[in-house]
Amino acid sequence: MARFELVCSECGMVFSEDPDLLVCPKCSVRQEAGASLRGVLEVRLSDPLSRWPDGAVHEPGVLTRLLPLADPRVLAPLAVGGTPLLEAPRLRQELGMPKLWLKDDIRNPSGSTKDRASWLVAAKAREYGREVIATASTGNAASSLAAVCAASGQRAVVLVPATAPRAKLVQMMVCGARVIPVDGSYDDAFELCCEACRELGWYNRNTALNPYTIEGKKTLAVEIARGLAPEAPDVVIVPAGDGVITAGVAKGFADLVEWGLLQRAPRLVIVQPTGASALVDALERGADDVTAVRGAASVADSLVVESPRNARLALARVRASDGGGVAVSDDAILGAVARLARLTGVFAEPAAAASLAGLKAALDAGLVGRDERAVLLATGSGLKDLDAASRTVDFPQPVPPDLESVARVVEG
Ligand SMILES: [Zn+2]
Repeated sequence: MARFELVCSECGMVFSEDPDLLVCPKCSVRQEAGASLRGVLEVRLSDPLSRWPDGAVHEPGVLTRLLPLADPRVLAPLAVGGTPLLEAPRLRQELGMPKLWLKDDIRNPSGSTKDRASWLVAAKAREYGREVIATASTGNAASSLAAVCAASGQRAVVLVPATAPRAKLVQMMVCGARVIPVDGSYDDAFELCCEACRELGWYNRNTALNPYTIEGKKTLAVEIARGLAPEAPDVVIVPAGDGVITAGVAKGFADLVEWGLLQRAPRLVIVQPTGASALVDALERGADDVTAVRGAASVADSLVVESPRNARLALARVRASDGGGVAVSDDAILGAVARLARLTGVFAEPAAAASLAGLKAALDAGLVGRDERAVLLATGSGLKDLDAASRTVDFPQPVPPDLESVARVVEG
């Protein structure tokens, strides 16, 4: 018997594993070009964990009971996951939230949560004998795929907007990916990658389209639940672009509830920039799908998506969790980059610090209570976008090399 099945999140149809099966064939006939995806598939394991392991949940033996893998040796030799859940006492005090935690997922190998998805996708590609993996990306998914493929010896082809932050472009090239900058938006790159994979036979890692992207990110929720056990978190704050981290986190908590390892799933509050807020707008309108934000723009480049590909599933999961969404300005996001760094020592990129800006907005809106057990996700490193962080600091003038000058600066 297969160790897992793929279940359509729209019609519920069940499929066996197939390397060429990405979305539900029945629902995807209604797919419109450039719109959110129809028929996104989710994994259902047949023999999952039935009790928490004694060791860490990201160890290979445990991962085969958490993820759709027969043999953990197909995973690239990289230390993905197992990131710290910080108590962040100074941030707790500043916000008046004594039960707040910060999940520092920046500590993944490429500096972003995307490693969780790339790690599983590359492993499945290896199982299927597909050595070239392609993805469209705003930057982090590409850097992540590049790093994972460097470790495993697979080939990464990445299509990114030419405007992606330079550090991310450098990171993916240094790791040996074939980088194709696209003179267009992330949404353009997504469509182009799908076409290239169809025509050239590459394995498609495009987020949400490949079901293992959602499943890989599930481990984030499993680690949070394990870290807070035996109590459950009340609410998790999630920065949202395409809505795949949102769906992955929701999937992780839902699986744990189904397996009897968690009493209840937390509410999910998603955060988007006001310049790219298709999901939050849809939540406010009560809509099942998004209206694309043409010309989407924000300092939080990782969240700049015109038409979130995983909109239908992400919206359904946020609503089912009794959660909500907030949109935050670029000024609030940049302020949060500095505030998070100064209160926790965690230097996050704008898209990741958006979770803190969003928590503040959610507190003001009454979406989150100060006494709740709340978890903030930090999903990407500030070193990936120094230009953005530079806007939050004043560069000091150099001083002559004498003590008097140093004393003058400190006194001033
Ligand atoms: Zn379907």
